[in-house]
Amino acid sequence: MYWVVIAVEARIGARTNVNNLVEKLCLSCGLCCNGVIFADVQLQRGDNSARLRELGVLKRNATKFPQPCTMHDGCRCGIYKERPKYCRQFECLLLQNANEGRVNESDAISVIKETRAQAAKVRDLLEQLGDKDASVALSKRFQAMRKQMENGRAGAEQVDLFGLLTVAVHELNVLLSERFYR
Ligand code: SF4
Repeated sequence: MYWVVIAVEARIGARTNVNNLVEKLCLSCGLCCNGVIFADVQLQRGDNSARLRELGVLKRNATKFPQPCTMHDGCRCGIYKERPKYCRQFECLLLQNANEGRVNESDAISVIKETRAQAAKVRDLLEQLGDKDASVALSKRFQAMRKQMENGRAGAEQVDLFGLLTVAVHELNVLLSERFYR
């Protein structure tokens, strides 16, 4: 998550090292903006909702916006200087552990790679089951697919795929809750 840099710098005060770490980890991750960790971002007191509407993040009268965030280019936040408060304050567990020296950089990169690969596997299985809507958070896509499977008349092949999807989502959730966000 590229946008935690200011908070991290202020707290630790080791500007160069922290910048390097945030650059390396957050720019190779994006899981907190791309609909894998969160399904939406709730505005906080002090957020400039009019400006966020103007920027196209927020729909009329909304107090939260969905993820994957349309401002995330796959790497960086497109409204970094004007991002909402929740985005400024959130710092995932992996980054905290890396900053505190409990996880070294290469292990942290491996965790990010493994988790991104697991998320890709979930997306792939959803696509095989007919859900190609990449604009919706993974957790919501899985819930919708589960309902569809419960209500519909799925064939044997679809049932098998859904079984694989369920296992893949479980494995993703274990990774997320143990390494990123409890
Ligand atoms: S506004 Fe920026 S930091 Fe917040 S979710 Fe969107 S891309 Fe991420």
